[in-house]
Amino acid sequence: MTPFSGREYHRLVREGGNFEQRRSETPTRPKSSRTFILDGVGPVLFEKSRRARRISLTVRASRGIRVAVPWRVSFQEARRIALSRLGWIRRTVAHVGRARSRCREAVQAAECLDRRTARANLSERLGALALEHGYSPGRLSVRCQGTVWGSASRSGRIQLNALLAVVPPDLADYVILHELVHTRVRGHGPAFWAELESRMSDARRRQSRLREYSQALF
Ligand SMILES: [Zn+2]
Repeated sequence: MTPFSGREYHRLVREGGNFEQRRSETPTRPKSSRTFILDGVGPVLFEKSRRARRISLTVRASRGIRVAVPWRVSFQEARRIALSRLGWIRRTVAHVGRARSRCREAVQAAECLDRRTARANLSERLGALALEHGYSPGRLSVRCQGTVWGSASRSGRIQLNALLAVVPPDLADYVILHELVHTRVRGHGPAFWAELESRMSDARRRQSRLREYSQALF
């Protein structure tokens, strides 16, 4: 049982296929990725990485199972190591699958998410929360990708993940207020949490509920 939708599964396979096609056009460069089908977990993308110091496995709902392979390690060696961690991969895949079924509504809404609508919706919430709590944020940008829900720059610019438009509104409000507080307090020290919790007393509880949506959607 794969936690990925049929479309994502096929995209994963197709990406591997496209890569092979590109490779044949530039035969002198060493291969930088390969897809192996691992027993019981399906396709796993192995990617050579100049930054990776050791083999690192990630399981993400939107990108499937990936293995970052240090340049000096061969794909066969990386495959052998990944096979030795098959138990962990299976458990994590099952975990993501459970998160996706518990967050089914958000997962379905994310599949037909329109960035413009998401932006309008999030911009309105940002405006309302800024007004209610006395913040004056800079420009808002709404992006579709990545594994962060939001960020705030020193100058007050706020970036929000478009997927916030599909999570329960109280969790989106938590992220937006979190970023508004960052326009005044950097980092996550006691001063940050004191200010955030003075405005949203259950902020930490919302933060932990949001984790399941990260697993289901990222
Ligand atoms: Zn933060």
